[in-house]
Amino acid sequence: MAVTLDRLAELPVTELKGVGPERAQALVDAFEIKTVLDLVTYYPRRHLDLSTMKTIRDARPDDQVWVFGRVVSTNVVRGYGKVKPRFEATIADDSGQMKVTFFNQTWRAKQFPQGTEALFFGKVKTFRGSKSMSPQEVDLLGEPEVGIRPIYRQSDKSRIYSKDLRAWIASALNRADEFIDPVPADVLDRFDFVDRTAAFNGYHRPQTWPEITEARRRLVFDELLRLQLALVLRKRTLERRSAGIAHQIGGELVRRFHGQLPYSLTNAQNRVIGEIERDLASVHPMHRLLQGDVGSGKTVVAVSALLVAVEGGMQGALMAPTEVLAEQHALSVRALLEGFTRSAENNLFSERPLQVDLLTGRTPAAERRRIDARLQQGETDILIGTHALIEEGIAFKSLGAVVVDEQHKFGVEQRAALREKGAGDLVPDVLVMTATPIPRTAAMTVYGDLDVSTLDEIPPGREPITTIWEKVEPGELTLGELTVWAHVREEVAAGRQAYVVCPLIEESEKLDARSAEATYEELSVGELAGLRLALLHGRLTSAEKEKVMTQFRAGAIDVLVSTTVIEVGVDVPNATVMVVLDADRFGMAQLHQLRGRVGRGAGLKSWCYLVGAGASEGGEERLSAMVRTQDGFELAEVDLDIRGEGTIMGERQKGRNDLKLASLRRDREWVSKAREVAFELVDADPTLADHPDLLNEIEAFLDDDEREFLFKG
Ligand code: ADP
Ligand code: MG
Repeated sequence: MAVTLDRLAELPVTELKGVGPERAQALVDAFEIKTVLDLVTYYPRRHLDLSTMKTIRDARPDDQVWVFGRVVSTNVVRGYGKVKPRFEATIADDSGQMKVTFFNQTWRAKQFPQGTEALFFGKVKTFRGSKSMSPQEVDLLGEPEVGIRPIYRQSDKSRIYSKDLRAWIASALNRADEFIDPVPADVLDRFDFVDRTAAFNGYHRPQTWPEITEARRRLVFDELLRLQLALVLRKRTLERRSAGIAHQIGGELVRRFHGQLPYSLTNAQNRVIGEIERDLASVHPMHRLLQGDVGSGKTVVAVSALLVAVEGGMQGALMAPTEVLAEQHALSVRALLEGFTRSAENNLFSERPLQVDLLTGRTPAAERRRIDARLQQGETDILIGTHALIEEGIAFKSLGAVVVDEQHKFGVEQRAALREKGAGDLVPDVLVMTATPIPRTAAMTVYGDLDVSTLDEIPPGREPITTIWEKVEPGELTLGELTVWAHVREEVAAGRQAYVVCPLIEESEKLDARSAEATYEELSVGELAGLRLALLHGRLTSAEKEKVMTQFRAGAIDVLVSTTVIEVGVDVPNATVMVVLDADRFGMAQLHQLRGRVGRGAGLKSWCYLVGAGASEGGEERLSAMVRTQDGFELAEVDLDIRGEGTIMGERQKGRNDLKLASLRRDREWVSKAREVAFELVDADPTLADHPDLLNEIEAFLDDDEREFLFKG
């Protein structure tokens, strides 16, 4: 029987021999496998060549090896005092014996009764001439085999082992027999792909190693192609369904703006401004992501885009995720546009200053009414505020362009709400900025329905920030034992300022981590006594926060003890030391953002101290990467390596769309190729009417909302 993947998505696993209701439930519980499609796309984690496996005799100490053995005796040790409970088994093959020990896993006794045959993977140790291992992985054998064996992720809890998965998948593949190949033949030819039947068989039950490589290549491409097709369809559908504004570019105002900057634009800024202006000039609404590292100069690019709208007599809006940031943007934008004028609406011969308004939750009611009126009259040229701007009943006279700062805090619904703010039925152009760069091919996937511009150049003349990892013992930090405070005092004595960042606001029973409140109190009377300290965290009212920030900006506070509320955007050039306590607890992007708060003043040397043990998961890698490089893109790559793609895909692609085999790192080149092919197919055939099999398949992999949007809208 020839089948399509969407057909397999309709077959419950109970259709297979040996899978009754109970096992079916176990498959759901363990792996969320419900259908035959889920099962055949449950890929082995690795393949093991049984012919090259080590015999127990040949396994050398410190080797990481698979050995095959039969359990000859077992022993359960109960824990007491410092002795951990454990299960021990002696295994044997034809060459010798070895002890395997599972700490804290006495339940394994049930799994390995005498006579069980299994594969054990781990590091070999020797003690007084006998070999032993604490296996990291085990794989139960059904029957003795030769050749290449796929190793699946198993579930001890649901008692589903590799051997079961192998049997069920084989039965599914036998039933499916032949897969209908929906990918056009010329694409298959171009990349010299094996057909789909060969791909599934070659990955789940290969005879040779090259077969696995070829199978993987094809399966990876198919996954990425499905994902890119959905994204590109989405992008093109958006473009088709909405009419945008064809802004006039190349005007005098923008030219003057660039001309009066105290520096010249970097090549990257020029390139990106060009990309944005092409979008602004086109009748399709812009949906572009601007990614650029901290300090790469995104603000000028944003203002430049807004001015294009203003020059054409329309309005621009700039939205930030927090009030502190909105206020800060207002300061910098007003400074950049100081002295700029435009022709007055009611009198072509008179000029009036550009009007930049700031609207946040703490704008007094009377001022808010004045701003409302100006907005509706078209007297406000640029409105700056928080994301709340678009949710409330704010009416613009004619909104032409919007810049949204910090994509990761800005949802899809909010983007949709924006479309209703445009002039008449026209959708304003949208530029989304993020200072959390992710690798290019990852961006193509995570933000696949946006175009992406990248500022990959830092303006010249920046002093590098010296990053020091102050390594401490795991456990609670003792402030008095840290060496960093002397340096903080020195910098303050030289007229500079410092940040101390903690993971928590207040002390917690559960977490062994520093709180801002306790740190502030201890430092005030202890290590930093005599300096002017202040406390900043998210539970202060916005008026209190604003007061602290204003004082810090004015230099009336020496050391700001804070939580990550200062993570993005806060710009105080006189601050030269950043101390991050319990640095282990922060993600890479956060650490990078925090470090970006210093090193902002021309000619001032800055330091970033990361205080932590590096004992948390990935902590060591994260902290050493921070010390090694200041390049946000490089850090993003490392982060992707540590955490895997699941995390960056986050909320955006749940469920079926998840990549099972493809890796955004390892398969980078295929991400780009799949995206190219997706554009090729969709642009030649916008509804994929000529590729019904492909279309059905994509539908089967989409979630309901996405399907609704693409196919029913
Ligand atoms: P980002 O928002 O990308 O972190 P900003 O826009 O805040 O960066 O710019 C950081 C600093 O760099 C600002 O002080 C800005 O004036 C300065 N800057 C921007 N572009 C350039 C340039 N081409 N040459 C020199 N300095 C620049
Ligand atoms: Mg910025």
